[in-house]
Amino acid sequence: MKSAIKGKRGKRIVVGIIAGFIFFFLFGLLYVVLNFKSLIYPPLHRYQLSPRQYVKEKGNLLPQAASISLIVEEHGGRDKPQVALTFDADMTPGMILMLRSGIAKSWYNRDIKTILDQTRTKATVFLGGLWVQTYPLEAKELAIDPLIEIGNHSYNHYAFANSCYSLPTLPDDQDEDDVLKAQHIIKAITGITPKYFRFPGGCYDRVALQSVADLGLTIVHWDVVAMDGFNENTDSIVRAVESQVQNGSIIVMHIHDGSYAPKTAEALKRIIPDLRKQGFEFVKVSEILK
Ligand SMILES: [Zn+2]
Repeated sequence: MKSAIKGKRGKRIVVGIIAGFIFFFLFGLLYVVLNFKSLIYPPLHRYQLSPRQYVKEKGNLLPQAASISLIVEEHGGRDKPQVALTFDADMTPGMILMLRSGIAKSWYNRDIKTILDQTRTKATVFLGGLWVQTYPLEAKELAIDPLIEIGNHSYNHYAFANSCYSLPTLPDDQDEDDVLKAQHIIKAITGITPKYFRFPGGCYDRVALQSVADLGLTIVHWDVVAMDGFNENTDSIVRAVESQVQNGSIIVMHIHDGSYAPKTAEALKRIIPDLRKQGFEFVKVSEILK
């Protein structure tokens, strides 16, 4: 009698364990199916902060600036044959939706990094906070490359002034938050504290300028527009750069893929050797602004 009860109990335990395994297996399967897209693209909230934590951390997130400057740096000294290639890594919430829905395949063209590495060409990449959250490993890879310098390109890539292409405008009282949030994300993921900031679309007003300058960041613009955005014509990108470039130039290009910057890598393959032949040396933004 006793052993029959024991046997029943033993059976129930075994059945319970098997049912538990099946339950967890099915639950796991359901989780994978429901989160398929976000398993491919890591969920952004992984690096998000508790509300306004980055404001509390402000002191650790900013460079040690000797003085606050309202100057917008458009180029370096005109006395030396040096140029700075710069690439913007934009990411808006809309671009993330395009990525997740499959409308856009990628917002990172790794070929650009490969070309820079193969030709030993220095460059500066301005990273958007959302871009870094979408591509944390790629951001790290860029940051550890000794040829590449990292700048801040805002968090949301919203405009800091009205009428800036088709970008939504950030309210003035959110300028500082947006910059700080990007500083935090870039530092948390790459370990780098950017010293340079570039406005989305290059648009700013007096309030925006003051907000960024107050944080001790140096504002970097450009004097040569490569016109690589949405441009399928490699020749025209090469021509745009080579016709405008001069000593001290800061050239703006994009590190995206797809429709946003489809021919940047192709153009770069010609621009780098052409400018070297003309006697130009490629340097980082920090070097050109010395
Ligand atoms: Zn941009």
